[in-house]
Amino acid sequence: MTKKILAVGEIRDGEFRNVSYEAVAAAKEIASGGEVVGVLLGENVSGLAQELIQYGADRAVVVESEKLSSYTPDGYTQALQAVVEQENPDGMIFGHTSIGRDAAPKLAARLDSGLVSDATAIEVAGEEVIFTRPIYSGKAFEKKVVSGGKIFATIRPNNIAPLEKDESRSGDVSEVTVDIKDIRTIIKDVVRNTATGVDLSEANIIVAGGRGLKSGDNFKLLDELADVLGAAVGASRGACDAEYCDYALQIGQTGKVVTPDLYIAVGISGAIQHVAGMSNSKVIVAINKDPEAEIFNIADYGIVGDLFDIVPKLTEEFKNV
Ligand code: FAD
Repeated sequence: MTKKILAVGEIRDGEFRNVSYEAVAAAKEIASGGEVVGVLLGENVSGLAQELIQYGADRAVVVESEKLSSYTPDGYTQALQAVVEQENPDGMIFGHTSIGRDAAPKLAARLDSGLVSDATAIEVAGEEVIFTRPIYSGKAFEKKVVSGGKIFATIRPNNIAPLEKDESRSGDVSEVTVDIKDIRTIIKDVVRNTATGVDLSEANIIVAGGRGLKSGDNFKLLDELADVLGAAVGASRGACDAEYCDYALQIGQTGKVVTPDLYIAVGISGAIQHVAGMSNSKVIVAINKDPEAEIFNIADYGIVGDLFDIVPKLTEEFKNV
């Protein structure tokens, strides 16, 4: 049976984050030929709506409000609930981002529905929607089968390929008016900690540093390599605990989960809690002076040696590519 599925777009600095297009692709799969409706929340965001349609949505619904200019749990939940009440969809897809991880379960609970979180693949078999998701810190995958009720899911960024953009597509964009009130969170300032300006959770290439860097100053070596590669800089918790960098860079079980095309681990031992956040990267390169370091067990390519020799050489080499 065909379904109507909402795909929630995420906007940052006036642009969609990639996961928005991935949500549209996921919604399209689940809709099985039914309708996909892109959802946008924010202030002055209507102009972006057609882009969700160009990536595969059939139409878009926008909630415009100055109270949605930054994410707040109260504001987003009220706005999304109003959209669901108007659209009465069969399901709703969010990115598994800090916003999706917060908003999706709240909304699902309000609507007395279940939620599949952190899906990395989706297939449809008749009436069943089968989600694949990692468990045990990425050591195994489980399949969750949803065969009735509303389908709420968050999808891990960089796993479900977006559809090809088709600029000739256009569709209807409508607005839902919501009287958003009782917001208990006050956003005073938004601080970004990306040295290279590339968002860690959506980066195609990540250069991550560990305690082997020995100081915060030495993280500059990683910034230089990342700059040349157009990469984001990440870190182990060891490096964050040692105050070499901000916790916003932490990757792992208690940090960010990333799935870039290329992950370069520099001076990171490969503790299970770190690996939990990066083991699904497509290609892993490890640089470590200890040939027995755990990180080499999951690396596709390993360089045994002193990072202070190797990283500057790599930076120079990549400059010439
Ligand atoms: P270390 O283990 O000290 O490794 C440093 C590495 O650098 C070594 O392998 C060493 O050989 C290498 N090295 C040193 N000098 C050089 C050099 N000159 N050249 C090349 N290599 C060199 N960790 C995370 O990363 N993310 C998490 O989310 C996370 N969550 C956790 C949650 C819990 C509940 C717990 C208990 C721990 C968690 N940890 C997490 C911590 C984790 O167990 C490790 O302690 C941490 O990942 C180690 O960081 P590290 O690899 O940078 O440091």
